Amino acid sequence: MKYALVTGGSRGLGRAVCLKVAQMGIPVLINYQSNEAAAQEVKALVEAEGVSAELLRFDVRVKQEVDDALSRWEEAHPDDYIAYLVNNAGIRRDGMLFMMPEQDWHDVLDITLNGFYNVTTHLLPKMMMRKHGGRIVNMSSLSGLKGLPGQTNYSAAKAALIGATKALAQEVAPRGVTVNAIAPGFIETDMTKDLPQDELKKMIPVGRFGRPEEVAALTGFLLSDEAAYITGEVISINGGLYT
Ligand code: NAP
Repeated sequence: MKYALVTGGSRGLGRAVCLKVAQMGIPVLINYQSNEAAAQEVKALVEAEGVSAELLRFDVRVKQEVDDALSRWEEAHPDDYIAYLVNNAGIRRDGMLFMMPEQDWHDVLDITLNGFYNVTTHLLPKMMMRKHGGRIVNMSSLSGLKGLPGQTNYSAAKAALIGATKALAQEVAPRGVTVNAIAPGFIETDMTKDLPQDELKKMIPVGRFGRPEEVAALTGFLLSDEAAYITGEVISINGGLYT
């Protein structure tokens, strides 16, 4: 049985991706860091689609936690493997670089970039061994393509994730594993709820923030068999904000 793991699956884009994956009939492992109630809610919604779901709590920053949680799951599931990985967990800690607390720099880089490293390196050997290959989707950002003032840490982390996506895609393509990145613009989630939406949407040609379900639909396509020939790509979903 092939499973999907969605990091940061408890809220926002990750939650929508879990539901999309469930609609594709793929059992889901919902990772979260601290918000168990939100993760339980996603689990119930996935199960309501008739698909099995399990919660996997770990902090993507901490390699030992990642390895322990995934190894425990693998021991309990000797005939199954995680064929679909969505590296989605992420945070913002905005501020001008000259005033940025050192911790804000490290936290953003650690979760986005080291989180990618910690989870992906655990799962990749098994993905590459199986003849059905695998799919990896990395949640980058418009910020990683364009660079946004006040987000030097976030832009650096998301741009690094794009570099990693392109390099890894070439390494693992012969084994049937695709690696792509998605670069959303402004999407309505907890992460963007403090932003001045009325002001910002004037700059967006489509005239509104995106919905998590719209990002999840793109993610679902990149995870599907139909996307087997797409790899090393960064796909923007931003209402025409940056092309
Ligand atoms: P969100 O609503 O704030 O949700 C963040 C998710 O990440 C939560 O599930 C949270 O878990 C999890 N998380 C945070 N730190 C974690 C850690 N150390 N280990 C494991 N899980 C962790 O954010 P979102 O808007 O859905 O964003 C999801 C991804 O899309 C992020 O990578 C973000 O950078 C990217 N993105 C978002 C937008 C946007 O406009 N929303 C635009 C571009 C890119 P808990 O519930 O346990 O806290």
